[in-house]
Amino acid sequence: MSGGSWFTYARAQMSANADPAPVADPALDPPPITMTVDVEDHRPAPTWEARYERCTRRFLDFFEEHDIRATFFVVGRLAEWSPGLVEEISRRGHEVGLHGYRHWAVFSYEPSSFAAETAKGKALIEDIIGAPVVGFRAPAGTIMPSTFWATEILAEVGFEYSASVLPAQSYVVGFPGVPATPFRWPSGLVEAPCPAFAVGSVGLPFMGGTFLRVFPLPLVRFLVGRLPARSTPWMYAHPYDIDTGEPFWVVPEVKRWGSVLLWTNRAGMLRKLERLLVGRSGPPLGERLRALAGDLPTFVPQRADEPPGRGDVVEMLHVALRRERIVRDVSPRNGEVTVASRGTDAPPSRPS
Ligand SMILES: [Zn+2]
Repeated sequence: MSGGSWFTYARAQMSANADPAPVADPALDPPPITMTVDVEDHRPAPTWEARYERCTRRFLDFFEEHDIRATFFVVGRLAEWSPGLVEEISRRGHEVGLHGYRHWAVFSYEPSSFAAETAKGKALIEDIIGAPVVGFRAPAGTIMPSTFWATEILAEVGFEYSASVLPAQSYVVGFPGVPATPFRWPSGLVEAPCPAFAVGSVGLPFMGGTFLRVFPLPLVRFLVGRLPARSTPWMYAHPYDIDTGEPFWVVPEVKRWGSVLLWTNRAGMLRKLERLLVGRSGPPLGERLRALAGDLPTFVPQRADEPPGRGDVVEMLHVALRRERIVRDVSPRNGEVTVASRGTDAPPSRPS
């Protein structure tokens, strides 16, 4: 696709019609926003009730009501446990991508085991939906300088795009220096970076999850308006973000105050999504990025072996502690692990 933006694509589609039609002007019209859902299990232990199926279906009903087509990144293990849910997501008109075979940070894998599990997750979803799976989202956004190797593997196992990278520094993840607009990794894999805004040197992924539940809507709108030109804005949510029926528990990785934030304003989440998306929702990421694919810059990291940028000493310590905790919790090399970065690796003991 020549020209290089969603609007150019839209223009080309319009000019293909017989009737002359007014063309979209990217300087005047804000880009559409694509909705994404990370379908993951949030239980601390397998004996707890699994609630992701009912919440995912609530998203499906909400999207149908508002004529929104989304991309659902599904954890491979959940596709094994709930193939009917994955089939339903696809049948109701949405794209299905992979959110890791397990919900484990990419940096907790060796490249060879990451390749094997990622290919396995891709194949099992393809078997369920009968169509190629081309999109990947790394659990917790853990494609970062130290896991740059994953962008090679994702292309090798057949993914066309990733929507995994925070184009900034943050406490745990982030890939400082990558473009904030879609680009290609040297492997050819397309990346649609997570929309973020900077507070000092730290980037906040404000268009989803806890940020979206906690931030006032006018602030989110203001920040969306400040995204760079040629952005491909996407929002993100998890089943638990709309789960008003889940009893409160302290999520060990984020302690009590972080857990309070995880439960804040779940009741208002769908209303916020409605206010931001209705009239402005774009197609699923796979379709959208394919339309841009011929005209994307390639980003070559200069220092791929270094950790994310560091701020002051307190922040360095925070990064070190937080990162150590996540590695310990999610490492597949640690046989005693059951809790994997806010989620369990055991099938539901009863259907949700
Ligand atoms: Zn996730």
